Amino acid sequence: MNKGEEKPLDFIREIVKKDLEAGVFNGRVHTRFPPEPNGYLHIGHAKAISIDFGIAEEFGGLCNLRMDDTNPTKEEAEYVSAIIEDVRWLGYDWGDRLTYASDYYEQMYQYAEELIKKGLAYVCELTPEELREYRGSLTEPGRESPYRARSVEENLVLFRRMKAGEFPDGTKTLRAKIDMASPNLNMRDPVMYRIVHASHYRTGNAWCIYPTYDWAHGLEDSIEGITHSLCTLEFEDHRPLYDWFLEKLGVHHPRQIEFARLNLTYTVLSKRILQRLVQEGYVSGWDDPRLPTLRGMRRRGYPPEAIRDFCARIGVAKTDSVVDYALLEHCVREVLNKKCQRVMAVLRPLRVVIENYPEDRKEELEAINNPEDPSAGTRKIPFSRVIYIEQDDFMEEPAPKFYRLAPGREVRLRYAYFIKCHGYHKDRNGRIVELRCTYDPDTRGGNAPDGRKVKATLHWVSAEEALKVEVRLYDRLFLKEDPLDFPEGSDFVANLNPHSLTVLTNCLAEPCLLSAKPWETYQFERLGYFCVDPDSSESRLVFNRTVDLKDEWARIKKQYLKEKQG
Ligand code: ATP
Ligand code: MG
Repeated sequence: MNKGEEKPLDFIREIVKKDLEAGVFNGRVHTRFPPEPNGYLHIGHAKAISIDFGIAEEFGGLCNLRMDDTNPTKEEAEYVSAIIEDVRWLGYDWGDRLTYASDYYEQMYQYAEELIKKGLAYVCELTPEELREYRGSLTEPGRESPYRARSVEENLVLFRRMKAGEFPDGTKTLRAKIDMASPNLNMRDPVMYRIVHASHYRTGNAWCIYPTYDWAHGLEDSIEGITHSLCTLEFEDHRPLYDWFLEKLGVHHPRQIEFARLNLTYTVLSKRILQRLVQEGYVSGWDDPRLPTLRGMRRRGYPPEAIRDFCARIGVAKTDSVVDYALLEHCVREVLNKKCQRVMAVLRPLRVVIENYPEDRKEELEAINNPEDPSAGTRKIPFSRVIYIEQDDFMEEPAPKFYRLAPGREVRLRYAYFIKCHGYHKDRNGRIVELRCTYDPDTRGGNAPDGRKVKATLHWVSAEEALKVEVRLYDRLFLKEDPLDFPEGSDFVANLNPHSLTVLTNCLAEPCLLSAKPWETYQFERLGYFCVDPDSSESRLVFNRTVDLKDEWARIKKQYLKEKQG
């Protein structure tokens, strides 16, 4: 999009713009991103973050980062700090507006007493099973609780005793008195408070009654003066309930707007499932580079600006859809292509002896650091009689369309010379272990003065100077586009890709990588982008392949356009 060209607004931005023009909320725009600190953020959250923070920024408003921490048994301080780190890493700033739902417990409690006093909430003694049974279903109305008609005084006394810790878990709840026959199940006297004698990571043992999500969420937005409460579609059916609470209390009432969740092919965006993958050891941790968590993507080498670009491209809609993972990878390549230094590394080394290159000779050849960025300059790479190339780049009996090295064939070594293969050695198992080649001294830099052409250019490293490194190659975590599509009786584990990780411990890289630091990303020529893993030590560099060089997205797009025309 060029400067001055107006990007069409999505439906949320249209609403916000109209509200501003009409002076709703006195011309204020205030959003929030409200994660529950019960797990790590994933790329679905990045979509929500980019909408919440993005809209505030674009309309001159504010965005809070709020920990929606109302469940003592699932939340931990560890998750809070990780969320803070991840949102900051993505590039967003909440100023001094980091808030906690747990800071509003007292206020919420007062609101609850207010509803009791208005005759709009009651203490119920149905067990959790009975509650479910009384609730009815989509086709059957619910039944009224036998405790529904309690007097205001009795309800107040009982609620205060609940708060004081006089009753065991699960024996009583506070419920809103709405309508057990409502077609919307959320309106059938929903629970507002349950008794949970558990210590909360922030409030300790101060409370033994905790607000439910449905009771708390709308209040949090109201207390913070949020104007536009943006959330995912599953909360659409809860909106009438939030409206009811806020109307009955007569407090600030934000506008809630729902948008579709992000779904991505070949992965899952659900904290519950991600948790299982981590806890059951299918991946190495929350930051495993195969996971769609922000930490996983960071460790994989995805730049935050690529994730932001991805979120901008997928846009905001009201209907659920699945986004192709290839688009995300395309965004990652676009950023890395511009900023990464190119180097050469060989993943599966095959020794090559250049017979006519003198044994005692060494030279340094000049290589371009980044053809996309002339300011990145050039560097020197050592060349000598023994080098390594990729095993894949040689075939004893070349297949049709294989243009790389084979007996009698000549190829170019990137930034170096033409070499020609004359023979090879095999080990006792018949594996090719060494090629015997000659080079043409007149082709220094990679061009023949007589104009003869070769059909392939190979990457290589000089044997003596090469740095031994470990490389971790990743493939899709799941074999199926939709990992949750599994046969009855099994579960998503059945769809895990058993080959999602390949560890290569004997890779060889150009010596300039000696100074590489964790988190830096390089392009290994012809192989993809690689990021230095924090597992690296002084004596051993570990690289994660961020993404390969094949742009699957370009192919998908081309095919789509063709189908549209045809
Ligand atoms: P999960 O379903 O993975 O457990 P969640 O919705 O329970 O996620 P929250 O911590 O409640 O996780 O999420 C914080 C915010 O992020 C919510 O407003 C939620 O709507 C939004 N969000 C979560 N997942 C996605 C997604 N896949 N796409 C877009 N927004 C999402
Ligand atoms: Mg949620």
